[in-house]
Amino acid sequence: MAYRLSGVAGGGGAAHRMRRASRRATPDRCRPRRAAHGDCHRATDRGRRRDAQFRACRPISYPAAGGNRWSTAPGETAGGRPGDGRLLRYRVVVERDIRGLPVGDIAAAITATLNDPRGWTAGGAWRLRRVGAGGATDFTIYLATPGTRDTLCQDMPDGYTSCRNGGRVVLNVARWVKGVPGYGASLATYRQYMVNHEVGHKLGLGHERCPGRDRPAPVMQQQTLGRHGCTANAWPYPEGKVRYSGPVGAYDDEIPRREGAYSAQ
Ligand SMILES: [Zn+2]
Repeated sequence: MAYRLSGVAGGGGAAHRMRRASRRATPDRCRPRRAAHGDCHRATDRGRRRDAQFRACRPISYPAAGGNRWSTAPGETAGGRPGDGRLLRYRVVVERDIRGLPVGDIAAAITATLNDPRGWTAGGAWRLRRVGAGGATDFTIYLATPGTRDTLCQDMPDGYTSCRNGGRVVLNVARWVKGVPGYGASLATYRQYMVNHEVGHKLGLGHERCPGRDRPAPVMQQQTLGRHGCTANAWPYPEGKVRYSGPVGAYDDEIPRREGAYSAQ
């Protein structure tokens, strides 16, 4: 009898395991990886309980100007790409008023971009490593509301673009969430571009222009404001060895008007 019960329990255990596996798959699917309107709406609209796993699915929202208070991502655990170049340590912080973009996800996306074989470490001059709160840093990457972007950048307060100001690499959450109209590539590509462009300034590089019609835009071109015949490109080393660049200089493009608060709901 005990043996038979054990056998039945074993079969039931397998079924439980399958059900558990399918429950586990749901939060992963609904993480807002692609856009503001993710599967998380469907998950919460069905009245599922909003436990810790579903908190990552909160719709994205942010005010026009946040309170300049920050959540800091932990350091990367893998240690970054190996190499002999000069080590630069950076921190990733997200303004607390920004909802639905967990600092861990933002840091993972930024670090994946910076460690990519087509990224700034490909030339061998630099190594980049994300450190957590309290560690010494060479620069900080902020994901900021448009208003706080103006406070941190201390330039023409446009509320639209991103910037680099000294040790501050400031990514405007409005561009992270919406990209730019007519960019000609995915939002993920635009995000990689904005990270590489602003970090490129931190590495000492200035603006470049489109080198020729239908050619990829250099990452130091202000692709946010215009492609000028070039195609979207997020990478400084698209082939992994030689830096892809254009003539030094910038365009006199008009900066679009700032937008206000945002809510995906
Ligand atoms: Zn720039």
